[in-house]
Parts: sequence; C-alpha cells; structure tokens
Amino acid sequence: MSAQIIDGKGIAARIRTEVKTAVDARIKQGLRAPGLAVVLIGENPASRVYVRNKRKACDEVGFVSRSYDLPADTTQQQLLELIDTLNEDDAIDGILVQLPLPTHFQEELVIERIHPDKDVDGFHPYNIGRLAQRMPLLQPCTPKGVMTLLESTGEDLHGKHAVIVGASNIVGRPMTLELLLGGATTTTCHRFTKNLSHHVSQGDIVVAAVGKPGIVQGQWIKEGAIVIDVGINRQADGTLTGDVDFAAAAEKASWITPVPGGVGPMTVATLLQNTLYAANELH
Ligand code: NAD
Repeated sequence: MSAQIIDGKGIAARIRTEVKTAVDARIKQGLRAPGLAVVLIGENPASRVYVRNKRKACDEVGFVSRSYDLPADTTQQQLLELIDTLNEDDAIDGILVQLPLPTHFQEELVIERIHPDKDVDGFHPYNIGRLAQRMPLLQPCTPKGVMTLLESTGEDLHGKHAVIVGASNIVGRPMTLELLLGGATTTTCHRFTKNLSHHVSQGDIVVAAVGKPGIVQGQWIKEGAIVIDVGINRQADGTLTGDVDFAAAAEKASWITPVPGGVGPMTVATLLQNTLYAANELH
C-alpha cells in the first residue's frame, strides 16, 4: 500500500480562512476583534520562530495581537503580575505564554495563573480536567489539530486502536484524552514502555510525539494504519524531520502526515480557532 498524504498545510490554510471570515462577521456586527496576548521570555531561538508565526497568523485573520517580549532575567513575580493584568483586560480573550520558560520559572504555577477562560493553549488543569471528563472547553492545540487531521480522512475512529507514543502534558497525554473522547481504544507509550515495536504494530492509528528522529520504524506499522507524526527534529543540514521513518511507513499506512507540512501548521491554526472560541463563547 502507498499512503495518501494528509495535507496539514492545506487544511490549516482553510481553517485560517474560516477564522478570518468569522472575525469579519464579528466586526460587521459591531463586536470587537478577538485579542491574543503572546508572552515570550528569553532568547530561545525555536520559541522565537514559533511566536513570530503565531503573531503573524493573528494579524492575518484580523485579531488584535499584543506582544510581550521580556528578558530572560524577568522574575516569576513579574510574569505573574503581567498575567494578572491580562486576565483583567477586557480586550484580551487569550493569553499564551510560550514554553519552555527559563529554568527559574515554575511552569505549572505560571500556567495555573492564566484564567481558564483565557487559556487558549488549553494547558490549565481546569481545561485538561474538562477534556478528561468529556466536557471540553479550551483544548490543547496540537492534539486538537491532530483530531482535525484525522477527521479529514473521513475514517470513523470508533473502536479503532490508537497507539500514542509520548506522554507529555502538552502533546501525548491530551492526545490520548482526545482519542478516547473520539471513541478510540487507546494505548499510551512513554520512555518506560517495553517492546515499543509490539505496541506500535497493533495500532490502527499511530501518533508519534517523542522528539527522536526515526524512533517509529516503518516496518512496525500495521497495514492500512493512519500515521500522524507530531515530532519536529532539526537535522545537521538544517532540514526538519519527524519521529517516523516516513518512506517505509508510507509503504504500509493508508494515510500519513509529512514533516514539515503536517501537524505543525495545525497547531497555529487551532490556536486561532481557540482564541475565536474564547471571544465568541467565553467572554
Ligand atoms: P517531551 O520531551 O515533553 O515528551 C516526550 C515524550 O516522549 C515523553 O512522554 C517521554 O516519556 C516519551 N519518550 C521518550 N523516549 C521514548 C521512547 N524511547 N519510547 C517511547 N516514548 C519515549 O516532548 P513534547 O513536548 O511532547 O514534544 C514531542 C515532539 O513533538 C518534539 O519533537 C516536539 O518538537 C514536537 N512538537 C510538535 C508540535 C507541533 O506543532 N507539530 C507541537 C509540540 C511538540
């Protein structure tokens, strides 16, 4: 079998157009544009790129985008005070603090300080709890974006065995909750999992989110499986590659996401959806 490519870039572009149309409609009705505050601390080069992309996407769909670029020696207290101010600001629907933060911050404390109704990253324990209890409000962007990609295949998820490789708070764990909510039977693998190849070979859906190139080998993939590669790894020559051995996996899968151009663009598109949702439904 030769897999069909899931065109994340194209699907993300469609979502961005939909969000722009909805923003234009809001403004025509006399409502204000949704507002997103993006906070970046320090000089992490990957974070700078992500934040630049998010701000550009906000501008393109007509959001009000507020940028806070703070030095690496910003104290935790200063950041918490900024979050308090943004929580109170009626022009702001979403607050995004780009992770990872420098090591002197306690990330959990910072995330919990964001009001759950403005937590457009969906990382607050309240929003994760809502997802776990099948009452999602603001959902983590990357896993929600993966669900949109799965939906685009037209495949029914009910009863499918989904194998998630990676169990982080921002990707693997909420991915498991999303797939469970979608009716799949889930297995979550992590650094202590034994016999990874056995688990992956059982998957009708495989989601790889580890950050190690080629950790999911092509020959492990079940014939006809859907393969979603969340991994983003920069190679020595500067190009990006995922966690899945793409060429060999594409021989066996029915659908597969490329890296780049698969999950990556969906994360930003879903952030826009979440911010619009917060503006329309939560404020
Ligand atoms: P993380 O380091 O926080 O988590 C990695 C997970 O992989 C952990 O749960 C760990 O237990 C597991 N793991 C490590 N070694 C393993 C092994 N040998 N077998 C099975 N599991 C193993 O990383 P993260 O933040 O979840 O990100 C994962 C990858 O996804 C990275 O490449 C990151 O760049 C990428 N990412 C992409 C997007 C996107 O928009 N496409 C968004 C977020 C993260």
